[in-house]
Amino acid sequence: MYDAIVVGARCAGSPTAMLLARQGLRVLLVDKASFPSDTLSTHYLHPPALDILRGWNLLDRVERCGAPPIERLTWRYRDLEIAGFPVNPYGMTAVYAPRRYVFDMILLSAALEAGVEFRDRFAVQELVRADSGRVTGIKGRYQAGATVVEKAGIVVGADGMRSLVARQAGAITYRLEATLTCQYYGYWAGVDGSDNELLAGDWLGSGAIPTNDGLTTICVACPRSSLGEFRKDVAGNFLRIVREVSPDLADRVSRGERVERIYGTADIPNFIRRPYGSGWALVGDSGYHKDPLTAAGITDAFRDANLLTEAIMDGLTGMRDADAAMKEYELRRNESVMPFFQMTLDAATLEPPRGKNLDFMRALQGNQSEIDRWLGMNSYTVPVDEVLSPQYMDMVINAAAICR
Ligand SMILES: Cc1cc2nc3c(=O)[nH]c(=O)nc-3n(C[C@H](O)[C@H](O)[C@H](O)COP(=O)(O)OP(=O)(O)OC[C@H]3O[C@@H](n4cnc5c(N)ncnc54)[C@H](O)[C@@H]3O)c2cc1C
Repeated sequence: MYDAIVVGARCAGSPTAMLLARQGLRVLLVDKASFPSDTLSTHYLHPPALDILRGWNLLDRVERCGAPPIERLTWRYRDLEIAGFPVNPYGMTAVYAPRRYVFDMILLSAALEAGVEFRDRFAVQELVRADSGRVTGIKGRYQAGATVVEKAGIVVGADGMRSLVARQAGAITYRLEATLTCQYYGYWAGVDGSDNELLAGDWLGSGAIPTNDGLTTICVACPRSSLGEFRKDVAGNFLRIVREVSPDLADRVSRGERVERIYGTADIPNFIRRPYGSGWALVGDSGYHKDPLTAAGITDAFRDANLLTEAIMDGLTGMRDADAAMKEYELRRNESVMPFFQMTLDAATLEPPRGKNLDFMRALQGNQSEIDRWLGMNSYTVPVDEVLSPQYMDMVINAAAICR
C-alpha cells in the first residue's frame, strides 16, 4: 500500500511524486514510456518555471545541462520588432529550453533521489475503486506482460491530455474550446542567432529556440483548418511557412542543416477539467490543456505540482479538511491560469495584429521598459489584464504620440 500513486513521469508527474516523497510519503510513480525519452513537445521554460526549479534545488542542474542561456526574446511582425528580456520579480536574466529527454530525466532523477519508487514501461489500464466508489488504486501491466494491482491513499493522474485517470475517474470538463492550430517543429544545426524568436505572420506563426547540442528548434504554426494541405508535403510546407513569416529566419535555416525529422501535431485541445475527486487528483495537462503557442504547459505543470502537494499534505495532516484543501487547489489553479488561457486562445487564432493592437505594438517600438513588460505578459511574470487593459494600451499609445 502506497500513500500516493502518480501516473505519468514527466513535467507534472515527476515533480509531484518528488514533492510528496520529500514530505515523507511512500510514493509509486509509473509511466508507460521508457526513460530517458523524448516526447512531442518543444521545451521553452518561462521565468516562473525556473524560479520553481530553484525552489526545488534543481535550477543548477538545468543551467548545467547543455542548453544555452537565452538572454533575449524577440517578437517580430513584418517591420515591427520587439526585443528585450521579460520583467520578472525573480532576478532571472536568462531562460532555458532544454531538450525533453534531458530535462525530463532531471525531474525523474530528483524524484528517485527523494525516495520515489519508479516503474517505467508500465501502463495503467484501470482505476481500482472501493464499494463506496472511492478510487483506491490502479491496475496496470508491464510491457513484459504481468498485470498487477497497487493500492494507495490517492491516485494522481499526471498522464497528459488524454488522461486515463481523468476519463475513468469521471473528471468533468467545464471549459472546452475549439482546437485552433497545428504545430510542427524540427532541429537544425548551424542556424545563426541566440535569441528566442517568436515571429508572427498573417494567419501563420514561426519561431526559433536555441537548445542543447548547438541545435536550434525551428517551429511553425498554422490554422487547424489547413492541416490537410500541410500534410501533403510536411517538409516543403514547413519551410514555406518559415519563409512566408520571416525571410530572414528562412535564409538562416537554409544555411543550416536539419538533423532530425519534423515532428508535429494537430491534436491540440483547449480545456479545463475539475482536478480532483474521491481518492484521485489531476495535475498538468490531464487537468488543464491549452494550445502550446504560448509555451506555458511546463510552467503550469510545475505550479500545479506545488499547489497539489500542498493540498494533499494539508488534507493528510489535518491542517485543513481534505476536500476543502482540494477545492482550494482547483481555485488557485484557475485563478492563475484563466487570463493566460484566454490570451493563449486569442494568440492561437494566429490573427495578425490590427486595429488598436497594431497601434499598441507600434507604440512599444523604442520604449524598452514597456517592451519588457509586454514580454513579461507573455512570460507569465506580468498579469495579462495589466498589459491588455484598454486604459494601459491607450496610455502607451498616447505617450508614443507625444514623443514623436
Ligand atoms: C508541439 C508542442 C510544443 C510544446 N512546447 C512547449 C514549450 O515550449 N514549453 C512548455 O512549457 N510547454 C510546451 N508544450 C506543452 C508541454 O509539452 C505539456 O504541457 C507538458 O508536457 C505537460 O506535461 P505532463 O506531465 O502534464 O504530461 P505529458 O508530458 O503528456 O506526460 C504524460 C506522461 O504520462 C504517461 N502516461 C499516459 N497514460 C499513461 C498510462 N495509462 N499509464 C502509464 N503512463 C501513462 C505518458 O507516457 C507520458 O510520459 C508543448 C506541447 C506541444 C504539443
